[in-house]
Amino acid sequence: MPLLPRRFKRLKAVLNCRMADLTVLVEHVEKPHNLSAILRSCDAVGVLEAHAICKESKISTFNSTAQGSQKWVKLHEYSNIKSAVETLKKSGFIIYGTNLAIEAKDYRECDFTGPTAFVLGAEKWGLSQSATDLMDEAIFIPMRGMVQSLNVSVAASTLLFEALRQRERKKGTPKSGEGVPPEVYDQIIFEWAYPQVAKWCKLIGRKYPEINDKGEIIEELPRTMKLRY
Ligand code: SAM
Repeated sequence: MPLLPRRFKRLKAVLNCRMADLTVLVEHVEKPHNLSAILRSCDAVGVLEAHAICKESKISTFNSTAQGSQKWVKLHEYSNIKSAVETLKKSGFIIYGTNLAIEAKDYRECDFTGPTAFVLGAEKWGLSQSATDLMDEAIFIPMRGMVQSLNVSVAASTLLFEALRQRERKKGTPKSGEGVPPEVYDQIIFEWAYPQVAKWCKLIGRKYPEINDKGEIIEELPRTMKLRY
């Protein structure tokens, strides 16, 4: 089925609101439904990309919980916390570790309007010591009940929506794609519009075909590929 102009318009409208300078890094979150729920919140808030440390195999998500959001929020995987944090710091992110065990700052007292990465820990153990040591700031969401902690996806959602609220109040949020680096905007819109063709291009190592402003591919592709979109 060809990509409908209405669908392309919708994809662009969503990408235009994405923010590359707000993200989450999850450290060994083991339950797929938790990771899926985190990605769903990322999508809802307008996070462009998320990051995860995985133990050995590829991280899986639950489509029923993610509601497809894993397709719209790219997840970068790392084998250890050090390389993940280094990558984020090189991109200018302030790293906020969620920590319930040490002295941490109430999240409502922090400014999340600059490049912000929230680091969330495993369901049972929380953040590792090495993760804690790498953080710029430790934060927590105050708890008033009998239970000591929130579900990790609820904590992620609370923090992300606070960052969104602060940004909306202080400087406004992207509306026309200004939150996405220009060099990746076209790449992402192509991947969203034509995931199968993008996969094929990557496989054979060719650049993505150009598309026009209605979202139509404007070059001839092999017939077998044309049948797939
Ligand atoms: N016993 C663990 C601990 O002490 O960290 C509890 C882990 S909690 C279920 C899983 C993750 O959710 C935490 O590592 C943190 O990222 C996040 N989280 C849960 N409650 C939180 C809170 N009140 N403030 C900040 N983050 C929280």
